Order: sequence, then C-alpha cells, then structure tokens
Amino acid sequence: KAKGRNRYQLYSGNMNVSFAEKLSIEMQMRKAIDRKEFQVFYQPQICVSTGMISGMEALVRWSSPLHGSLSPLEFIPLAEETGLILSIGEFVLRSTCKQAMLWKNAGLPPMRMAVNISSLQIEQDGFCDCITQLLQEYHLDGSMLELEVTEGALLSDGEQMIAKLKMLSSMGIKIALDDFGTGYSSLSYLQKFPIDTIKIDQSFVRGLPSDPNNVSIVTAICAMAHGLKMNLIAEGVEKPEQLRFLHSLDCNEAQGFLFSKPLPGNEITGLLMRNGPLAPPAFYSGQSES
Ligand code: C2E
Ligand code: MG
Ligand code: MG
Ligand code: MG
Repeated sequence: KAKGRNRYQLYSGNMNVSFAEKLSIEMQMRKAIDRKEFQVFYQPQICVSTGMISGMEALVRWSSPLHGSLSPLEFIPLAEETGLILSIGEFVLRSTCKQAMLWKNAGLPPMRMAVNISSLQIEQDGFCDCITQLLQEYHLDGSMLELEVTEGALLSDGEQMIAKLKMLSSMGIKIALDDFGTGYSSLSYLQKFPIDTIKIDQSFVRGLPSDPNNVSIVTAICAMAHGLKMNLIAEGVEKPEQLRFLHSLDCNEAQGFLFSKPLPGNEITGLLMRNGPLAPPAFYSGQSES
C-alpha cells in the first residue's frame, strides 16, 4: 500500500517468467483466439491388448508471433488466473467436436474424444448446456466425449461439482481423473464422483519396470481400478518394456510417444484410415524385444 496504487497481485505460480513477460503473455493471449493462434492437436490412446486406437486426447497448442510456441504448462495456469481459460476451453471443446464430426463424415468408426477441462469451466453457469449444444450442433453422441479433470478440480465447490458431473454422466459423457496420484488425492473422491477412467500420471510410468517404487504404485493403482471397474489409461508410455509391464498388469489403455506424439487432426486422419495397431509390431506378434 505504501508503494501507491499497485493493483496487480503477483502470483509466483508455475511460471518461470518475469512479471513483465507474464503481463505481455496475458495481453497476447487475449487476442490469440480471434487471431487463430490456438490449435488443437490430438494424441491417440491405444488398447493395450490389441494395439488399436481406442480414443484421442485433445491438447491445445499456442503459437504466438511474439513469444513463439508456448507450452500449455506455461500458459494454462495463466489462462486460469485471468479467466481466459473459459474462452480457450470452449474453443478446444468446439474444435474437438468438429474434428469428431469430420472423422465421422469420412466414414471412420466413432472415436472417443477426451478433452482437458479446468474446474473454472465446470463451475461456470451453463456448462452442461454448452456441452449439450455442441453435441447437437455436430451431431455427436454424448458417449463419444470424455472430460478429463484433475484431483484439484474435485476439491473445489463440492456439492455443485458432484451435481454437474452426475448430470454430464447421465448424458453418457465419460469423466476421467487425470494425473492420478499427483494431486491432493483422497480416495473417497472415487466413490463420490461418477468417474469412469483413471489416468496414471506419467511420473509413475517413467521408471517402469525397473524402479521398484513405480512398480508398486502402478500395480496398486491397477488393482484398485480393476476392483472399482474403472477404465485405466497409463500416460507417458515411451518404451516397449513399459508397455510390456502394463500389459502384464492388464492395464486397459496406454498413451505416449511410443505410439504417437500429439498431432494435428489431418495427420491423425491417416493413422485412423490405416486402421491397424499402433504398438511396435514385435510387441503383439512374438512378445520379443523390439
Ligand atoms: P495432460 O492432460 O496430463 O496431458 C499429457 C501431456 O503429456 C501432454 O503435454 C502430452 O503432450 C504429454 N505426453 C504425451 N505422451 C508423452 C510421452 O510419452 N512422454 C512425455 N514426456 N510426455 C508425453 P502437453 O500437451 O504439453 O500438455 C500439458 C498439460 O497441459 C496437460 O497435461 C493438461 O494438464 C494441460 N492442457 C493441455 N491442453 C489443455 C486444454 O485444452 N485445456 C486445459 N484445461 N488444459 C490443457
Ligand atoms: Mg489430460
Ligand atoms: Mg495427465
Ligand atoms: Mg498433466
């Protein structure tokens, strides 16, 4: 106060950038949607037992003329602080639904599309109506949509959050718990919220199968997910030996650079047309080293 009318509150957040740079990024972000600087990439999720594509995760990309390519890890927290996540999030949802319609119209089988959702979006009035409208507009069934939320999102706004997720669930929409095990986990959330899918965070997958701590944690999460009859997706799978270990645990699905990095929709179309397994062929034919 002694310093005068400094009205800005500086959060250190996750961002490793100066305050001035942060303000500049924020100002650029405000214009970025209209300037079409955001793009949605898609990363395949594969069925561990067959290697076939089972779904797709939408991941936003921002290429700013001033700041270059920024990671969502940098700009999403800032978008959440400033409320811009509401318009960015709607853009991602709309782009994803449109892409799903394009694939459907091209004769490809229906594809589950997962979209990361910030808690601010769910809390916003009319979120469920907005989803209903998008599904109608693009002639999509609710069951093709999966919303990825983090444990943190479930902490906020308890009763209302449960009501909204149940409403979405009743429309056939699936709810996935992202980055499982890294947040303020309370296992009671798994009972309170209508969760269909658990995503094992990549930090637990990285050291498989040699790191005994990773092995214990992933084994326990798999057993729990199976017991609760939830779908399980392992994130950040980069190596055949990680996949082999996940296969031995009957983990349902996997996602990572081993199969494909996130790509623009038109590049994913080729993968979908090919309609074959994405895992290294050696893995499914002979279980030999590849
Ligand atoms: P996430 O939802 O957990 O997404 C997975 C992240 O892991 C993505 O990073 C993806 O590119 C990366 N990844 C995939 N496979 C591998 C792998 O094999 N190895 C490694 N090391 N990484 C892999 P990305 O795209 O940079 O996104 C980071 C985070 O930003 C996401 O984590 C999500 O929390 C957030 N995010 C991305 N797009 C959106 C969005 O549209 N809305 C919201 N609210 N958040 C988003
Ligand atoms: Mg995600
Ligand atoms: Mg994740
Ligand atoms: Mg993450």
